[in-house]
Amino acid sequence: MNQSLFAPGYKSAPYWWERTPRPELPEAAPPARAEVAIIGSGYTGLSAAIQTARGGRHSVVLDAEDAGWGCSSRNGGQIGTSIKPDFSELAARHGGETALRILREGHNALDWIGDFIAAEGIDCDFKRVGRFRGAHNPANYEILAGSLTKQPKGLEIEAHMVPRAEQHSELGSDLYHGGMVMARHAALDPARYHQGLLDRALAAGVEVVTHCAVTGIARAGEGFRLQTARGSLVARDVIVATNGYTGGLTPWQRRRVIPIGSYMIATEPLPEAQMDRLMPRDRVHSDTRKMVYYYRASPDRRRILFGGRVSLSETDPRLGAPRLHAELTRIFPELAETRVTHGWMGFVGYTFDKLPHLGRRDGIHYAIGYCGSGISLASYFGTRIGQQLLGRAEGRTGLDGLRFSGRPYYWGRPWFLAPAIRYYRWHDSLGVGS
Ligand SMILES: Cc1cc2nc3c(=O)[nH]c(=O)nc-3n(C[C@H](O)[C@H](O)[C@H](O)COP(=O)(O)OP(=O)(O)OC[C@H]3O[C@@H](n4cnc5c(N)ncnc54)[C@H](O)[C@@H]3O)c2cc1C
Repeated sequence: MNQSLFAPGYKSAPYWWERTPRPELPEAAPPARAEVAIIGSGYTGLSAAIQTARGGRHSVVLDAEDAGWGCSSRNGGQIGTSIKPDFSELAARHGGETALRILREGHNALDWIGDFIAAEGIDCDFKRVGRFRGAHNPANYEILAGSLTKQPKGLEIEAHMVPRAEQHSELGSDLYHGGMVMARHAALDPARYHQGLLDRALAAGVEVVTHCAVTGIARAGEGFRLQTARGSLVARDVIVATNGYTGGLTPWQRRRVIPIGSYMIATEPLPEAQMDRLMPRDRVHSDTRKMVYYYRASPDRRRILFGGRVSLSETDPRLGAPRLHAELTRIFPELAETRVTHGWMGFVGYTFDKLPHLGRRDGIHYAIGYCGSGISLASYFGTRIGQQLLGRAEGRTGLDGLRFSGRPYYWGRPWFLAPAIRYYRWHDSLGVGS
């Protein structure tokens, strides 16, 4: 391993935790009874809890680790329309009307999160900065341009193409063959946003019990008995909000969620003039490669935060950092000597149909499977599942009732990912459109 890559004082921890350390909550056992028990304290769990508590239900959130320890304080802070499959793929599977309904929810979630943050007054550097999506070859530039002229009615986005000759107005890189700007996409500081949700949940009366893994769930009369690391709890209703960390506690969900490691690095601070050259418009960035890479400036515009799915299940971020740094340098060769101050990873939750799913199974509510784009979706569907539990009409979503399938021989360990990643790397190295 190239040790000179790591700055003195390097940390294998999220950059975001410097400004927003994991919250210190009193070490408590869960109460013996609650009306709603929510497993997982990320965006999904807290958004649901805010609804149920404000709706008058005694709500308890339980997490095996610190509050927000999962993806919700580790992500890249980039927000798009977030639903992965496009209209033609969904229309072939579900018909045009359902496809439209599903995709609209991605647009709704993107609008909703900005309105929600403003209405709640959450201080988290939320900005509609827009996204520049680079085309990694000429064929993909044409595909992006074509997608703009053929936007499905009712799903039009505010976007424009930037040819290669003008690319430096968006990004100080010659790697791409032009790209597309999507104006409504946004950025935030994910850990500050999580802290804002936590503060609002606590203010609404939610009990948040951390370092308290839920180890068993069984029916108990009208409700459920949860066994935890610190005693048991009987709750009328349960919400599963464990996404990429879904384990053996909920085998039905586990068979339907594929945990995939996503990795990030933060660079050491860059000179202001260099940052202004590399990222002149302060946008969020991604590209058309199948192997996903995403990057942006930190909110104070001093560092680049660079992420990607460079490994499968390796949990040591020091091992993923060199690969990310190599990709960073492919985009910005002048950063070859720039060192890394932070490296971290988390498990995102994919599903076999690449869609999030929410609903109720055996009486237990769940919202899960945001396929790596969960800032808006987890907050939005977490809110909706809380409203559904309260029996409120506004809890209905365009994804309700979708079949949530697993696959034969899949019990929660994604043995099929290694060949898929090798295929993606090979595919990206070809000059073909995807
Ligand atoms: C490196 C990285 C970059 C990302 N970048 C982006 C991005 O730029 N944009 C975007 O939209 N999304 C991004 N994501 C994805 C996004 O962060 C997630 O989709 C979202 O945070 C999911 O929120 P959640 O609340 O559902 O799950 P999480 O925040 O993962 O929370 C799940 C929680 O469940 C807890 N848990 C699990 N089992 C138990 C149990 N038995 N008992 C108690 N607690 C349990 C875990 O400890 C964990 O805290 C990224 C993710 C990662 C890892």
